Formats: sequence, C-alpha cells, structure tokens
Amino acid sequence: MIIKLTGFFTPWILYAVITALYYFLPGRWIRGYVRHSQTGEVLKYRLNGILVLLVSILLWFISGYLGWVAYDWLYIIRWYSLAGAFTLGLIFSFLIVLPYPSTGRTFIAELFFGRVENPQTRNKKIDAKIWLYLIGAVMLQLNVLSFAAHNYLVYGKISSAVFLCSSLLTYFVCDYLSFEKVHLFTYDFFAERVGLKLGWGCLTFYPYFYSIALWAIADIQKPDIPVWLSVCYALLFLSGWMLSRGANMQKYYFKTQPEKPFLGIKPQVISEGNKTLLVNGFWGVSRHINYLGEILMGVAIALSTGYPVIYWAWLYPIYYIALLVPRQIDDDKRCSLKYGNLWKEYSTKVKYRIIPCIY
Ligand code: NDP
Repeated sequence: MIIKLTGFFTPWILYAVITALYYFLPGRWIRGYVRHSQTGEVLKYRLNGILVLLVSILLWFISGYLGWVAYDWLYIIRWYSLAGAFTLGLIFSFLIVLPYPSTGRTFIAELFFGRVENPQTRNKKIDAKIWLYLIGAVMLQLNVLSFAAHNYLVYGKISSAVFLCSSLLTYFVCDYLSFEKVHLFTYDFFAERVGLKLGWGCLTFYPYFYSIALWAIADIQKPDIPVWLSVCYALLFLSGWMLSRGANMQKYYFKTQPEKPFLGIKPQVISEGNKTLLVNGFWGVSRHINYLGEILMGVAIALSTGYPVIYWAWLYPIYYIALLVPRQIDDDKRCSLKYGNLWKEYSTKVKYRIIPCIY
C-alpha cells in the first residue's frame, strides 16, 4: 500500500521540484511572438529549460547514488505514477478552465481546448505553457533514465535496443529544451488555449506516452540490435530531426531577421502589403515538412525497440500522424484566413502539404 501511495504521489512531488527549479534557477528573459489579447503587448518569457533539465538529472543521479531512491524507482512504480499524473493532469485542467469566462463554445469543447490563451503569473516568471512543456519534457527524461536503469540493474548490462531508444528520446528532450525560444513561434503558443489538451497532455500524456517504446522493452534482455542497424535507425531519426529543426529554424530566422540566410539559403519570399511568406528552402519542399520530420523521428524510435512486432511502440508514430494531419488542416485554414490570396499563391507554388509528391 505504501508503495502504491508513494508511487501515486511521486509525479506530484517531482512536478513541485521542477516548478521550484523553474522559478528559482536563473533564466533568460526573451521577447516572444504572441501578443497579449487585451494590451496588444508582445509577451515576454523567462526561459531556463535546459538548466532545469540538467539539475533534475543531477538530483536523480545523486539520490540514486546515495541510495535515497532506487535509480529505477520510476520504472517500479510506473503504473501508480501514471495514475498520479493522470489525476493531477485532470485537476489542473479543471482549475485552469473553470475560473475564466466562457469563450462561447460548449463546456466540453472549452474544457478540452481551454478558455484562457496565455496565462502568466503577475511577475511573468511563470508562463503556463512554458511550465507545462518543461514539466512534460523533464518528467519524460526522468522516466527514460529510470527505465533504462531498470534494464541495466536487472541484466547487469543495458541492451543495445534500450540504449538506442533512450538515447533518441534523450536527444529529443534536450533538443526541445535547447531551442525553447524557437518554440515560442509555434502553433501551441499563438493558436492554442490552455485546457485539458495542453494541461493533461503535458502533465500526463507527454511524459508517459512518449516513453511508450521503452515501456515495451525496459524489462527485456534482448534484443541486441546489430551496430549497422542501430546506425540506420539513428540516421533515420537524424534525418527527421534535420527536416523538423531545419524548417523551424529557417522560419524563426525569417520572423526575427528576415534578410538573414539560414544554412546559406537566402530567403525567397512572396509578399502582399505587409504580409510575407517564405517559399524556398524547407518551406519550398512542402508546406509542413517539419511534420514529416517529426513522424520520421517517431518511426525511428519505434524501430529502435528492435522488435518491429511490438505493436504498442508503433502507437507513437501513429499518434504523430493523428496529431499532425488535423493540425496541418487547421493551420492551413488559419493561414488561408490570415494571408488570403497570398496563401493561395503559396499553395500553388508549394503544392504538397506534408509529404513531397504524395500528400
Ligand atoms: P509550423 O512551425 O509549421 O508553424 C505554422 C505557422 O508558420 C503558420 O501558422 C504560419 O504562422 C507560419 N507559416 C506557415 N507557412 C509559412 C511560410 N511559408 N513562411 C512563413 N511563415 C509560415 O507548425 P507548428 O507550430 O504546428 O509546429 C512547430 C514544430 O513543433 C514542428 O516542427 C512540429 O513538428 C513540432 N511539433 C512537435 C510535437 C511533438 O509532440 N513533438 C507536437 C506538435 C508539433 P504565422 O501566422 O505566424 O505566419
């Protein structure tokens, strides 16, 4: 019973620690992209994600080293921990929706998509979206480390599949937190409100579902994937990462320093009045090549389990398809409204939505 209870409350404690680190560790103040809905002022954010991640990993390591908490504690209590995070995610979602005035949609829609756009504390040190993504990413990383540690502790060596899978997920988390400021320019920040989708999504779904491939193999000794195959999976992951990171960075430079070339690519644009769209580089290949990159990374992570027949690892790339295809449709609608004829011109020049020559 004690294990169940401590397991249930483990994410609550960890989320409190991560929040304290976010609040008290030094951070950089960055001007974002989104404007305050009432004042029209561009929002500012305090970012320190990578530092919070490093300190959290250090704390995990020290507490394991000193024998306070087993290195694989998060694996041992995974189901109770999932239940605790699930409950906390629901509580947070109600608390972030109910106090705010209705936007005119049905209650269920508002609970899911949220009412408030970009909540921040009065001193702006905590931004709800940054906080949610930070908690999700750090907890995902702690799960990854703990699951990998379990494999090592049980078999005295880590299987190459667990090693590769945890390395790819670690890369994914570090990449996200290293480029935190670039993500201020993404759909979640300018188009989404905070409700169950973002709240429960980041507190529960992100740290537990994104590690699903490791859930499948952390307790298995084999397989040891041959080195050449590990390299192929890693290259597939990296090619996805290049598409996704490359497109995000090209757009980020274009929005912040419009003339600046990215990777030697000079921006080519189409314009109408004060509206401008990029039409070359990553943005000339398809209108959402970054989504293809994300899906390829998901496929590489599923393959890295070494068991192509473990069906639940495949839920991960399938989830990306289910998330990103409707998102592309929504985003295209939004852009069509915002950019009008210019968007039509762009869609004629760059015909494909996500996968060049196919979709
Ligand atoms: P995009 O980065 O594609 O951003 C879309 C926005 O970019 C549009 O609304 C528009 O905004 C602007 N835009 C579109 N076309 C052009 C163009 N040709 N030139 C200039 N600006 C353009 O999508 P997201 O924000 O959805 O995704 C950001 C990243 O996050 C992606 O790499 C995505 O894969 C990743 N992601 C990762 C997830 C994960 O769980 N790992 C989940 C979801 C996304 P504006 O009106 O400002 O011009």
